[in-house]
Amino acid sequence: MDAVVKSLLERPQPQPNSAPLGRPSREEAEAAVRVLLRWTGDDPSREGLLDTPKRVVKAFEEFFSGYQADATDVLSRVFEEVHGYDDIVLVRDIPFSSHCEHHMVPFFGNAHIAYYPSEEGVVGLSKLARLVDVFAKRLQTQEALTAQIVSAIDQHLRPRGCAVMIEAEHMCMSMRGVRKHGAETITTQFTGVFRDDPAEQVRFLTLLRSGK
Ligand SMILES: [Zn+2]
Repeated sequence: MDAVVKSLLERPQPQPNSAPLGRPSREEAEAAVRVLLRWTGDDPSREGLLDTPKRVVKAFEEFFSGYQADATDVLSRVFEEVHGYDDIVLVRDIPFSSHCEHHMVPFFGNAHIAYYPSEEGVVGLSKLARLVDVFAKRLQTQEALTAQIVSAIDQHLRPRGCAVMIEAEHMCMSMRGVRKHGAETITTQFTGVFRDDPAEQVRFLTLLRSGK
């Protein structure tokens, strides 16, 4: 498992404006959508589809805005005033939507993030939700998304341990292929005390389910 995670983390992370073949123009992107519309069997020149390429390209800017975002910006402002608090910080049920890199169709669900702060401090809770979007708004696999969130928290907050769980439904499983509606995929990654101490994993899982 460690080897898998390592290889996921070592994959080149696209940086803003570093598309290897150069970023196409908006007109080129819209022309590509018209090709796909013809591929469906429909006619891009019929009235209902005339503005579709423009809308799709605009939607893509939002779906894939993570390529223009940077985890460092999100996590750089650390709050140190925690008055001695050094126990677990857990934010659960952070909703997200992403697109699988194999089919470019959505997968969506909830992310749960926990960490034990070190003297580096804590971040505002909303930052963790924004961090999820930095990576979710890209072409992804659920495994890589999980690993990238953990890695960013480890790198920027240097916590004593970090735990991330993602629960998601993949449209490429429910709409095509095996067509299993409602099947949920769960991924977890633990570092530090969460990795080393099974009791910490139990605590994380217990807190996730408490009060539900
Ligand atoms: Zn897929």
